[in-house]
Amino acid sequence: MSNTISSVKKEECYGCRSCEQICPKQCISVLPDNEGFLYPSVNEDVCIKCGLCVKHCPIFNKTENTNPIYLGLRLKDDKELSESASGGVFAGFADYILENGGVIFGCAFDENLQARHIKVDNKAELKLIKGSKYVTSDTRETYREVAEILKNYPEKIVFYTGTPCQISGLYSFLGKKPEKLFTADIICHGVPSQKLFNKYIEWLSKKTNDKIIYYGFRDKDVSGWTCGGKTKTKTKTKTKTINGAVDPYYSSFMRGETYRQSCYQCAFADIKKRSGDITMGDFWGIETAHPKFYSSKGVSCCMLNNDKGKFLFEKNRSRFEFIETSADKITRKNGNLLHPTKKPTVRDTIYNGIDDLPVEKFISKLYAPLPKRIVRYMISLIPSELKIVIKRILKL
Ligand SMILES: Cc1cc2nc3c(=O)[nH]c(=O)nc-3n(C[C@H](O)[C@H](O)[C@H](O)COP(=O)(O)OP(=O)(O)OC[C@H]3O[C@@H](n4cnc5c(N)ncnc54)[C@H](O)[C@@H]3O)c2cc1C
Repeated sequence: MSNTISSVKKEECYGCRSCEQICPKQCISVLPDNEGFLYPSVNEDVCIKCGLCVKHCPIFNKTENTNPIYLGLRLKDDKELSESASGGVFAGFADYILENGGVIFGCAFDENLQARHIKVDNKAELKLIKGSKYVTSDTRETYREVAEILKNYPEKIVFYTGTPCQISGLYSFLGKKPEKLFTADIICHGVPSQKLFNKYIEWLSKKTNDKIIYYGFRDKDVSGWTCGGKTKTKTKTKTKTINGAVDPYYSSFMRGETYRQSCYQCAFADIKKRSGDITMGDFWGIETAHPKFYSSKGVSCCMLNNDKGKFLFEKNRSRFEFIETSADKITRKNGNLLHPTKKPTVRDTIYNGIDDLPVEKFISKLYAPLPKRIVRYMISLIPSELKIVIKRILKL
């Protein structure tokens, strides 16, 4: 292990900002590269080679093996369930934290659709964190904020949620697992850069001749429990549905073509190596794993990874309908619990031209070849209830 973060290979760095936040000389800046992913840069003139940045980097702080309880669950409250991407695990636990005077950290879009972690301490703002944003969330100074809250308000519960690498980054930054800190990691495919998402929003705005002011990746009111959502523009009142199977940004995300380089060798794409007290994801495949528990309103899979995860669930079990399940059933349709996304060959060139090509030409690179797009579009038109029947017959 070298003495500064400069020695960390680019394809290993998660961009969590722990090194920047811990540096006593504030000589580490975290800046976007030409693809728009954040990486640390050390001002060697100021650096005193204390080694703290490396000591607090999640790459060098391995996650212990866990022995989880596996659940399938969904909120009993239909309104909250409809606002959640899957079965509302997050909202169920978040409500408990707020009711007990705690604070929650999670990913929200700002008014310019920039994804970043924010702190929430009231129910009205909780909806900002709800829902999946399929883009890198900037953790900004939230690790330091967590440390300050835990130090200054020892009675307060803090619930920090995010990708597994962000949770691991937080623990590495803190250097310990404080009693009042609860964490939840999401099952994660990988994350595209904010710069790519900005380019896509620029293209969408141009196409609709209006500024996009809202983007919901998983809005169930238009697409049901699936990968699709909606946009809203500034002046037009009508919302526009986004079909995740064919939309250029969404479908390239689903094909794994646009992720940060570290996502393709993610150490947390492992069912036994979870960084959070809880792991939450979609229970894809529930229709064949537990046909009676299937609901078109959405079902989450949830792993209670340790005693804190179990404690949170015990405090909240009355909010959910749930069943116990197994690792085997959860992983059948959720490959990212077993291995990182395989890097497609197109990944290394997909960001080329992001600064120079006309926006239409650049975005056209994100489309799948036409025949595949047509097939995916046709499949996406099949009503989901019929898809379930077909899957059950074919035992898929
Ligand atoms: C980039 C990404 C990839 C994912 N890949 C998978 C997958 O392969 N398989 C799977 O089963 N599930 C995946 N999920 C998780 C899934 O989409 C839901 O977020 C999860 O099931 C929780 O849903 P919910 O109904 O409990 O709550 P919701 O209210 O929908 O979830 C909100 C939670 O997600 C967090 N969150 C949202 N966007 C981000 C972000 N960009 N970065 C960090 N945290 C974020 C919030 O902080 C909050 O904790 C992914 C999510 C993201 C953001």
